[in-house]
Amino acid sequence: MAENYDYDLFVIGAGSGGVRAARVSAAYGARVAIAEEYRVGGTCVIRGCVPKKLLVYGAHFAEDLQDARRFGWEVPDCSFNWHTLRDNVLREVTRLEGLYEETLGNNDVEIFHERATVAGPNAVKLASGRTVTAGKILIAVGSWPIIPDVPGAEHGITSNEVFHLEEIPERVVIAGAGYIANEFAGIFHEFGSKVVLVNRTDVILRHYDESVRDRLLQISTTKGIDFKFHAKFQKIEKQEDGSLLISMDNHDPVEADVLLFAVGRKPNTANLGLESAGIELGRDSSIPVDEDNRTSCPSIFAVGDVTNRVQLTPVAIREGQAFADTFFGSKPTRVDYDTIPSAVFSHPPLAGVGLTESEARNKHGAVKTYTSDFRAMKNVLAGRNERSLYKLIVHVDTDEVLGIHMIGPDAPEILQAAAIAVKAKLKKSQFDEVIALHPTMAEELVLMK
Ligand code: FAD
Repeated sequence: MAENYDYDLFVIGAGSGGVRAARVSAAYGARVAIAEEYRVGGTCVIRGCVPKKLLVYGAHFAEDLQDARRFGWEVPDCSFNWHTLRDNVLREVTRLEGLYEETLGNNDVEIFHERATVAGPNAVKLASGRTVTAGKILIAVGSWPIIPDVPGAEHGITSNEVFHLEEIPERVVIAGAGYIANEFAGIFHEFGSKVVLVNRTDVILRHYDESVRDRLLQISTTKGIDFKFHAKFQKIEKQEDGSLLISMDNHDPVEADVLLFAVGRKPNTANLGLESAGIELGRDSSIPVDEDNRTSCPSIFAVGDVTNRVQLTPVAIREGQAFADTFFGSKPTRVDYDTIPSAVFSHPPLAGVGLTESEARNKHGAVKTYTSDFRAMKNVLAGRNERSLYKLIVHVDTDEVLGIHMIGPDAPEILQAAAIAVKAKLKKSQFDEVIALHPTMAEELVLMK
């Protein structure tokens, strides 16, 4: 260990990747410090996955309460109290923040609650003015929501603010068509807002399988979410009554009470002092790293969203773990980026793993596809005309299942288990050998002919 430095490791950013790397490195015996400029836990815990998923649960009660009547429950007219949900979610976030701090403390990681920047290959400058030194520096500063360059953009909010709204807006415009945009479209719609989703192209969720995306679009449209495609923003004006008038190409202007930008996230690398260590940014403002998360400066490393490889929490955590194992645990480890499952917590949710049908066709030529297009038993009794769709993509010659894509109730929960089979390169015939677990939705996975 580098005795002549203040620390063996200094981590900048206490989010998913940084906390894992700090905690595990310290458990291996390294002297570790971590700096956090906002709240320990990072985007996922404080203003991402966790509060979002809790809002998804909260929102889904709108449908559950309605459906319950078809199952014999006499449900009185229910009203929704946003302040109760918001405050409970924020309290849970604070509880988790405390647990993260506690874990770091239990592992003897020193926490600096302030901004830190790089001041040289082995030096970090803290906002309070102090400079500390470390054998290794790990940059895990995450990413930041992109705000489009359009007149009046300052009237919009991002996912950073959305969890703190004073009221649920009557009318909300969401810019973007990725997972965050579609998730919040579902959340606001279930809370009773009139939702308009505005996108530059006519493609939503472009990394997901086309059939599954089309199904979400069809269900969302039927529910009343309005999609405006090929709609580039022209300007956003604040009107006298406080509402917004949003003008866009190819469509009439739309009035809204809240405009949520969900058009992507860029690496959080502004003013990070990287030039002091000779590190140049990639074109997307990310920090380029090699397979061991090492930057062009041998003592400086980066993990998570800031490297813009895959912007997902479990990936940032794996990278943080691999970094700690490799450099402080004498267990050289590299992250395997192949076959990463992912999900969209829309209403209904969708999930996918492996190749989409078009990716598989591009890669392998012909492929076999198996689909099951069905109405979940619960939806049938509830009179909810919402069909699920499961799809397997199979290699023509080897019979290997190359991808699984699904939309329907609990799709992400089911897909996590099915992803093991795709990662293990199991064959369709092995799926067929499994006896169905009846009655479930997941049984469709072993019944497709
Ligand atoms: P972060 O978790 O963002 O942590 C970076 C930390 O560094 C932050 O706390 C920041 O304050 C701090 N920081 C930045 N600069 C400095 C500095 N100079 N000094 C000190 N501290 C600094 N992923 C999923 O897998 N599933 C989901 O369902 C999901 N939902 C999401 C929903 C939303 C609304 C958003 C915004 C993201 C979601 N994500 C989801 C993505 C996930 O949150 C990120 O991929 C993940 O948090 C990245 O981890 P990280 O360690 O790279 O960065």
